[in-house]
Amino acid sequence: MEHYLDNAATTRVCSAAVEAAVAAMTTEYGNPSSRHLAGSRAEGALKAHRAVIAKALGAKAEEIVFTSCGTESDNWAIHAAVELNRRRGKHIITTAIEHDAVLEPCRRLEREGYEVTYLKPDRMGNITVEQVADALREDTVLVSMMLVNNELGTILPVKEVSGLLKEKKSAALLHCDAVQGFLKVPFTVGELGADFVAVSGHKVHAPKGIGALYIKNGIRMPAMIYGGHQEGGLRSGTEPTAQIAAFAAAVEESAACFARERTYLEQLKKYAAEALTGQVEGLELVGDGKAPHILPVTLPGYKSEVVVRFLSDRGIFVSSGSACHKGKPSHVFAALNLPKKQLDGVLRISFCAQNTKEDVDALVLALKQAREQLFTSLS
Ligand code: PLP
Repeated sequence: MEHYLDNAATTRVCSAAVEAAVAAMTTEYGNPSSRHLAGSRAEGALKAHRAVIAKALGAKAEEIVFTSCGTESDNWAIHAAVELNRRRGKHIITTAIEHDAVLEPCRRLEREGYEVTYLKPDRMGNITVEQVADALREDTVLVSMMLVNNELGTILPVKEVSGLLKEKKSAALLHCDAVQGFLKVPFTVGELGADFVAVSGHKVHAPKGIGALYIKNGIRMPAMIYGGHQEGGLRSGTEPTAQIAAFAAAVEESAACFARERTYLEQLKKYAAEALTGQVEGLELVGDGKAPHILPVTLPGYKSEVVVRFLSDRGIFVSSGSACHKGKPSHVFAALNLPKKQLDGVLRISFCAQNTKEDVDALVLALKQAREQLFTSLS
């Protein structure tokens, strides 16, 4: 039996999403731009699916644009914000613990002459609104802050930052990468007060290859792709109707049981934290992230890649950090200034509502074995 505990990397596609995708590919397969009945049926479905994503985010349907993934949404929002504010300045504020989907476009902008302030977290992985207040300048054109950190599970003060920007009458646009927060912690785009909010399908039981960007009404968004004027002319190209249908089905299902699943995940995370620290000698929790689905831990003295492989051989899947790092030390955990032994031993356990205590028990048992069997080779 396998135990998949890497849901922050990606999730299993739910049956409702599979069925919706199959229907979109086999029965409702028209092109939404076609002017015949098959086309208008596909167009109607697209409209309904957009409304589902909008509702889950507390947005208006016309504020949602479908993209290919969270990375695209993040890149687009960042480039759009600096373009829209190009006459106001060249300063950007973000955090040192953002996903590379935000950090890499920021680094590219640095090479083009922008100055980027990367706010550092404290030892627990928290960032405060005061840090943003201290960094904010007349020429700040963009603040990009994630809602939930993908490795630590910390919740960042996006709402407070939007309040600060209003209070200071700042012209800076606010982008929020909510890829790990969507349907995991409660929020609406109105509460966040962000101008852009990025989400991704494959983190919420939809297939890979679909994401969305919320663009606040009134923003004169520069187009991402030019062509046949789909997505309000902002992102041309025939819409991936199957992925969109699946995304909407997965979101609808998760949104319907959000409160129950959240409580369940909180309980499962607590159970896991207690079982792991109580039964696996030397294991420590990392940070105090409040997101219900992400639990970072460390087994000091044990290389996390080796432990991940050991667990994988036993059918237990966790991550040694962000899946995007592929063996490189994670910049997120490095930003916590953990001692090297702790840093090298970091593991990220991440849950979905289909996980059970049995998955946790299997992990605990395998980690105990890892301690015994890997001990001599590493001590
Ligand atoms: N932002 C965060 C916080 C993430 O965790 C991820 C994926 O791991 C992304 C952005 C990128 O999303 P996608 O894989 O859909 O491109």
